[in-house]
Amino acid sequence: MQVTTRKSPSAVSSGLGNDLSGISPSNAAFLGKPRRLLIDGVWIDAISGRTFEVRDPSSDRVIASVALGEAADIDRAVAAARRAFEDSDWSRMKPGDRERVLHRIADLVERHAGELAELEAIDNGKSIVMARHVDLKHAIEVWRYMAGWPTKLEGQTLPVSGTLVPGQEYAAFSLREPVGVIGAIIAWNFPFLLATWKVAPALAAGCTVVLKPAEETPLTALRLGEIVLEAGLPKGVLNVVTGMGSTAGAALAEHPGVDKITFTGSTEVGRLVVRAASGNLKKVTVELGGKSPAIVLDDADLDKAIPGVTSGIFFNQGQVCCAGSRLYVAKRHFDRVVEGVAERAKAMKLGPGLDSSAEIGPLVSSVQRERVMSYIDQGLAAGASAVAGGRQVESPGYYVEPTIFTDVSEDMAIMREEIFGPVVVVKPFEDLGEIARLANESIYGLAASIWTRDVKKLFTLAPKIRAGTVWVNCHNVLDAAMPFGGYKQSGWGRELGREAVYSCLESKSLCINYAM
Ligand code: NAD
Repeated sequence: MQVTTRKSPSAVSSGLGNDLSGISPSNAAFLGKPRRLLIDGVWIDAISGRTFEVRDPSSDRVIASVALGEAADIDRAVAAARRAFEDSDWSRMKPGDRERVLHRIADLVERHAGELAELEAIDNGKSIVMARHVDLKHAIEVWRYMAGWPTKLEGQTLPVSGTLVPGQEYAAFSLREPVGVIGAIIAWNFPFLLATWKVAPALAAGCTVVLKPAEETPLTALRLGEIVLEAGLPKGVLNVVTGMGSTAGAALAEHPGVDKITFTGSTEVGRLVVRAASGNLKKVTVELGGKSPAIVLDDADLDKAIPGVTSGIFFNQGQVCCAGSRLYVAKRHFDRVVEGVAERAKAMKLGPGLDSSAEIGPLVSSVQRERVMSYIDQGLAAGASAVAGGRQVESPGYYVEPTIFTDVSEDMAIMREEIFGPVVVVKPFEDLGEIARLANESIYGLAASIWTRDVKKLFTLAPKIRAGTVWVNCHNVLDAAMPFGGYKQSGWGRELGREAVYSCLESKSLCINYAM
């Protein structure tokens, strides 16, 4: 097996920036104007009048200017969301009418999916093909799935015995009511998708929302603001405040006027959000980091497993919370799997999001590139071998080669910590008992994949894996109906499915004495 080590940034270079001259006229117009905050159904400047720049990760060029919302803007947005919750008809609207508004949003997202994918490619760096056929396709499904919920949010008839006060007769019911004002804070890796995961179930439940997108990727959240207005969502039901995490995000997390905070991001910031939320004991959902194992058992179909685990880590440049970043391979297949994954990684075409033939795009920011490179350096210094990649690309864009490490041990940072980039560590294992222990040796528990054709091994191993999702012979598969979230320090609560909607609802018991 050929071993390469990192010496200097690779010479692969220029020509990796997006050509923005051919983007759609609507996106050109959208980027051409400073973008403002959506509060109470109106686009307004931040109170301070300040803005921040948004960069194209493929070229480091500034592509947009966006309002810098801060605590005072969050105050205004929360007040608007509160008014909309208390005074507008949204939370009391007939379920069928609320469904119709959500379907109109889904229709508009579908109509504008191509433009949204293009915007995502420029803003985040991801492939336009993946943005259209993964992010937007799934987002449309989620809007439609959540649109179906308002007419199905049923309570129960409760069989109470009513024995405490003799002679009385009671009937009791449980009702489902919206939690109220929801603050939603999201990461940058799937900007439109994560906004959808938060906003669609909240609206289905009859809540109102203040959305704070990541500062790296605010653009499609702002387009979502335009879309919901066009769909006829009453003013103030969705407010979008762009800004920094330490100011706007922190203000939202601790705001006493917010009833629930739903956060997607790092475990480190998730902890801050939980602490901030404790002031008024608002409800909390946190979807956090991961270091997910992909496990190739000795009976796996390697023709499926090798491409499967390769895309399991390198999809979206490895900037996926559930990426299969720890690859464990049964000892007898170790060399073949490492060679197969390395061959594919080396052949991947690097290029900007708008190049539909590119397979690896830039990372989201220069900060993220530095973070990933520092992990690669630490891995090499600790004695791991880079059998592919290991270098950043000399270019104004934030490219890092897909990197595969072997000769890794459990105490290395690259083995334990979430890198959130195109870096995988590969380790052999001997038997099922050992692999269950290795897979669980992490503070995270977001997901795992098992590659096997043996049903007995599958049902022996899957229950032992402490993770919110276990995929078998696939990785990174999401569905609107399938709850997604983490065990351990990967979070509290679940996105998607019934659980996402119910997390936006309170349960009220209605107890009626009818023997008066
Ligand atoms: P991050 O935690 O740095 O930022 C996430 C969001 O929090 C951003 O909007 C940011 O502005 C905001 N923020 C930052 N400081 C804050 C504070 N003090 N108070 C409130 N908000 C604050 O994460 P990131 O770098 O944007 O995203 C990468 C992380 O997200 C990874 O750890 C990844 O695993 C995780 N992630 C998890 C899921 C999931 O569903 N479990 C999905 C996507 C990403």
